[in-house]
Amino acid sequence: MNEFEFINTIKQNAYRQPSLIKGIGDDAAVFRQSSQDVVTAMDTFVEHVHFSKQTMSPSDIGYRVLAANLSDMAAMGAEPAFYLVSIVVGDHWKKNELQDIFKGMQELAKQYSIDLIGGDTVSGHELSITVTVIGYVIKERARFRSAARDGDVVFVTGTLGDAAAGLHMCLHPGEYKDKHHFIRKHIRPEPRIAFARALTSLDRVALNDISDGIANEAYEIADASNVTVHLYNDKIPRHSGLKQFRASDVHNWVYFGGEDFELVGTVPEKDWEKVMTASEQTSVPVTKIGYISADNETGVVYLHDQDEVIRLGQFGYHHF
Ligand code: ADP
Ligand code: MG
Repeated sequence: MNEFEFINTIKQNAYRQPSLIKGIGDDAAVFRQSSQDVVTAMDTFVEHVHFSKQTMSPSDIGYRVLAANLSDMAAMGAEPAFYLVSIVVGDHWKKNELQDIFKGMQELAKQYSIDLIGGDTVSGHELSITVTVIGYVIKERARFRSAARDGDVVFVTGTLGDAAAGLHMCLHPGEYKDKHHFIRKHIRPEPRIAFARALTSLDRVALNDISDGIANEAYEIADASNVTVHLYNDKIPRHSGLKQFRASDVHNWVYFGGEDFELVGTVPEKDWEKVMTASEQTSVPVTKIGYISADNETGVVYLHDQDEVIRLGQFGYHHF
C-alpha cells in the first residue's frame, strides 16, 4: 500500500463542519471564517518518549494525542473544528496499527464534530505523530493565563493525580481498587471543552489545562499574570481510590504527575456562582482550591498545609 492509498483509508467519508471549503485531497485545506477568533494548537507524540506499544493500544495512542490538543482548546475556551495530522511512520509499525491510530482519533473527533482536513505522511525509524487543532472562540473571549487578578478564586475541575495513578497501574500490573477508573483516566482523558464553553458569559477567566501537574500549571498562571497563587492542600480534590497508595506517591501524582487534562482557573469571587452553574450544566465537578494575591512577590505558588506554608516547586514534567 502506498502513501496515496493509505491516506484514502484514513480520510473521512463526509465532513461535519459547515465552514470547510476543501478538505483532504488538494495541496492544502480551506475553511472560511469571518466573525470569530481562530485558535490553534499543536502537540507531538513520540514513541518511547510519550508512549509505548507496551501500555497503549494504537487506537489509545491516537485518542490520547488528539485529546491533548483538545484540552488546549478547552483551556482557551475554544470550540474545536478541525485537525491535521503529520505522521512519521516507524518501520516496525503495521498498516492496520497505523489505521487504528487514526480510528482512535476519529472516535474522539466524532464526539466533538471535528474534521480531519489534512496532514503529511513520511517514513522514519520510530513513530511520531504531530496533531494540529484549529478552533473558534467568540471575539475577545479566548481565555488567557495572564487574566488572574488579586482576590480571585482558584478552582480546578475533576480530581487530580488519577492519570498518573493509572499509568502506575499500567506499568505495575496487579489487582487495584477502582482500576478501570484510573487506567481510563490515563488512556482516555476527557478534554473539558463543554465546561470551558459554559463559562463564555464571564468577562474574565484565567484558564490553563493540567498537562504537567497542578504545581506547574499554577506557576504558569502566577508567572503570566504577575500574581501569587495560594493553594490549600486539603482542598485539592482527590479520588478516594488514591488512598490505596503511599502518601508520598499520591503527593507527587497530585502536584507533579501530569496529564490529568483537567482545567485550573481563576475568576473574581463575585462570579464563583456562575462557575458552579457551569459545573452543574456540564456535569463536570469543580472545586475551589485557593485564591490569588498580588503582593510584592509574583510568579510564586504557595501551598498551605494546616499551619505550614511551603513554596511549591515548579517541577512538573519538563522535557528540557
Ligand atoms: P502534497 O504533496 O501536496 O503535500 P500529500 O501527498 O502530502 O500532498 O497529501 C495529499 C493530501 O492528503 C493532502 O490533502 C494532505 O493534507 C493529506 N494528507 C497527507 N497525509 C495525511 C495524514 N497523515 N493525515 C491526514 N491527511 C493527510
Ligand atoms: Mg505533503
